[in-house]
Order: sequence, then C-alpha cells, then structure tokens
Amino acid sequence: MNTSPQLSPHFSLREFTASQTAAQYNIDNSLPVNMLENAAYTCEQLEKIRKQLDNKPIFISSGWRCPILNSKVGGSAGSDHAKARAVDIHCPQFGTARQIAEALVAAQIDFDQLILESPNTPSAWVHIGFRKGANRRQVLTKFAGDKTYYVGLKS
Ligand SMILES: [Zn+2]
Repeated sequence: MNTSPQLSPHFSLREFTASQTAAQYNIDNSLPVNMLENAAYTCEQLEKIRKQLDNKPIFISSGWRCPILNSKVGGSAGSDHAKARAVDIHCPQFGTARQIAEALVAAQIDFDQLILESPNTPSAWVHIGFRKGANRRQVLTKFAGDKTYYVGLKS
C-alpha cells in the first residue's frame, strides 16, 4: 500500500524526498513543514512539464535536499533543491535529457531555471526549478568535469 501523501496527482512526497545518499549516510531528509508550499508548487509545475512530455512518466532523481544532504552531494549553498524549488528529472519514455530540455525550452511554459546536466554521458539529466511569480526562463548547460554553466543548450 502506498501511504505517502501526494504533492500533486503524479508526484508523491516520498519521490520528492527520496535520496540514495541520504539512505546511505542515514540522513533524515524529510520535508520540513515550512517547505511544503514550495514543494507543492514545484510539483504543480511538474504536472505541466509532464503534459509537454506527452504525459510520459517523469522520474525525480533528486528533489528536496536538507542542508546536510545538499552539502554531502556537493550542491551549492544557495541550491534551489534546498528550498524545495527544483528537481532533477529523467523521462526515458520521452527521450534523452537533451530531447527533454529542447522540448521544454520550445514550449510556452514557465520555469525559473533549466539546466541540461552532463549531456554526452549516460547519466545525463535535466535540472528544472520554479519561483512562483519570478520565473526567469533561464536556460543553461553544464558539462561533466567542467564547472562552467554555459548559456543556452550547448552540444
Ligand atoms: Zn538539480
């Protein structure tokens, strides 16, 4: 039985907070109550993203990160993951991370920041974040082994 509450029709609190690193290091990555509003907004936006990806299932590989987990995975101190405003996603039934990023950039939807992460590697993913009322639609590419964030979708 699935007892995890839903943050939106297709996204559960469990998926939003799940972390192999947290499990490995016994870090309590449960969502604080004061982050619930951001988390619910993020998942509402993910429903729109899901529609753009032909309603194919989206998998969240990293959603909420408590500060300890965020530093453990090398996230920046101001990471939107640590504010429940961003997720890392895969959608294998739709396509590669690059195909997902291209589809979302072409769509008329709001997001604050979309990062094509580690394209050209098998683990490529899309980071996408939302800021209610302040979405910038910023698009970046970050290559594995390179600290620079390049503007736009680069190959
Ligand atoms: Zn991310």
